[in-house]
Amino acid sequence: MTNTCRNMKRKIFFIIFIAMTISSYSQKYPAFDTYPTSAGDVEMHFIGHGSLMFKLNNYIIYVDPVSSSGNYDNRPKADLILVTHEHSDHLDADLIARLRKDETIFYSTEKVVSQVKWAKAMKAGDTNIAGGITIEAVPAYNIVNLRAMGQPFHPKDNGIGFILSIGDKRIYVAGDSENTPEMKALKNIDVAFLPMNLPYTMTPEMVADAALAFNPGILYPYHFGDTNTDKIIELLKGTGIEVRIRNLK
Ligand code: ZN
Ligand code: ZN
Repeated sequence: MTNTCRNMKRKIFFIIFIAMTISSYSQKYPAFDTYPTSAGDVEMHFIGHGSLMFKLNNYIIYVDPVSSSGNYDNRPKADLILVTHEHSDHLDADLIARLRKDETIFYSTEKVVSQVKWAKAMKAGDTNIAGGITIEAVPAYNIVNLRAMGQPFHPKDNGIGFILSIGDKRIYVAGDSENTPEMKALKNIDVAFLPMNLPYTMTPEMVADAALAFNPGILYPYHFGDTNTDKIIELLKGTGIEVRIRNLK
């Protein structure tokens, strides 16, 4: 074997090695899960941190779309946009403008509507219907995690979470909240996205406390930053709640 030939062989092995490393990394977590409902399969796309995209048939829903949380290149325009509150890891007005088309409906809080005028305000307890999906706003707030001045990071009556009723299933995206009495009293939640980072939201213990109270079929911890996700798996082992870890740091 000539030297050039050997070098060539080495190069090819190296390229294969790199390609395998990259693909095993991206395969560690699926980019989306498919969840069956009586209205059709819902694709739940995990964009990153607090940012999600749901696709039902060709209806596209973005929750808290933020460009610094993941890649929005080649993503479809929105039919429905839901934003839980005005913090910069949840509200990205530039990206929302890019995702908007003529028919896009945008529901959010009053504070967000004061910044993005075409949004429609919802407060906890309100319900709307869009694309055959019922959207219910629920409270999202802190009780124990306060700023230095004693103000909560997320005061009551500002932020909201959303429950989407799609066919016979209910998907809950909590927004930035703790395990509040209202959260713990939720009923018939099939899939829940609960935030799990301090000091802004919940510890794994608080997430477990909420999940054990309202008992979702599937729990996705999200908005978890550097929190160790092994802990929540351990806390909910044997409870019948399926914990799924995805790329939602
Ligand atoms: Zn926040
Ligand atoms: Zn946040």
